[in-house]
Amino acid sequence: MIEEKAFQIKDELISIRRHLHSTPETDFEEIKTSSFIRSKLDDYGIPYTTSAKTGTVALIKGKNSNKTVLLRADIDGLPIKDESKFEIKSEREGYMHACGHDIHATCLLGAAKILNDIKDELNGNVKLVFQPAEEGIGGALPMIEDGILENPHVDAAFALHVEPLEKTGNIQIKDGSIMASPDDFKIVVHGVGGHASAPEKCVNPVTIGTAIITEFEKLNATVLKDKPCVMTVCYFNGGTCNNAIPQTAEIMGTARSLDNETREMLIELLDKTAHETAKKHGTTIDFTFNKLFPPVANNSEMNDVIRNSAKKLTCINEVVTLDKPAMAGDDFSYFGENVPSAYFKLGVGNVEKGAVYPIHSPKFIADEDALPIGSAILSQTAVDYLDTYNN
Ligand SMILES: [Zn+2]
Ligand SMILES: [Zn+2]
Repeated sequence: MIEEKAFQIKDELISIRRHLHSTPETDFEEIKTSSFIRSKLDDYGIPYTTSAKTGTVALIKGKNSNKTVLLRADIDGLPIKDESKFEIKSEREGYMHACGHDIHATCLLGAAKILNDIKDELNGNVKLVFQPAEEGIGGALPMIEDGILENPHVDAAFALHVEPLEKTGNIQIKDGSIMASPDDFKIVVHGVGGHASAPEKCVNPVTIGTAIITEFEKLNATVLKDKPCVMTVCYFNGGTCNNAIPQTAEIMGTARSLDNETREMLIELLDKTAHETAKKHGTTIDFTFNKLFPPVANNSEMNDVIRNSAKKLTCINEVVTLDKPAMAGDDFSYFGENVPSAYFKLGVGNVEKGAVYPIHSPKFIADEDALPIGSAILSQTAVDYLDTYNN
């Protein structure tokens, strides 16, 4: 029944997605996006509240209120110029839905409509969260701090993310860590600037910065080699001309890990290595580590709910078990820190439609045939979670 309903609204889902696709917005400025989502909820007669400026939380009350399951979609785009060959273009120069969050919001609106139609049969409540700013500073934490996991209390959370490198009709799932903590670091090397002809009277932050980067690469080749993490230096800048030693040099990079223990180890190791190397060269540094989001860790029982729900849907051909996590991040992890949760990937890949580019590519295209599939699996998962866990 759920699957039928999802395919009955396929044209509507495509039109919603295309509207959202044309108006990408970012970082708590998803004004048009959120007002469009809210207008759809109004059309469906589903009550909602607002949270974290451009976030929206809708609630579908079932036949009892013992349990509440949360479904989350992020809604923001990216500051990437749209270079895709898709027939609908971004109307905002320099911005694009290159991570498919327009698809996520659409699938969730579809699920809202389907679940609202059958609310009298729901064995509990469904909370639908349309979250801003996933790509930027993160909208999940402000929404949680705003109390969206209470009133009614949320017992479990689910989310999907598009995967253009997986065929439409398949979903990908993984127990344990599926996404990393996408943290970054910055090092300012303090030197003593002066004339390039007299390096003995200066402390050269460029050469010391190079020494730090070399030590970091040694860590990659040794202690970090088999650890569940990745550390990459991506930026090195010092000096303005060829005949002056600068006062400072700057190093920046990413340090991503899959569990909190490795994350803390990484912070300590980079901090210590950078400070010790600077000290050896007679100078000091400022080390800043910016913790972005925790890793996304899937609860295997919640994954089982998705696996069993997928079996009931003929539109899902295969549930692919991933053997490796992605080293990208997603602030859905904050939901998982509070309640049992699962995050899975929805295949939107289709060679014939040109849907072959990875997310964040300016050429990103998603196969819209995946829209009803996304709505169906979200709806079925919510129904099955409530039926299984509400006793
Ligand atoms: Zn993204
Ligand atoms: Zn994304």
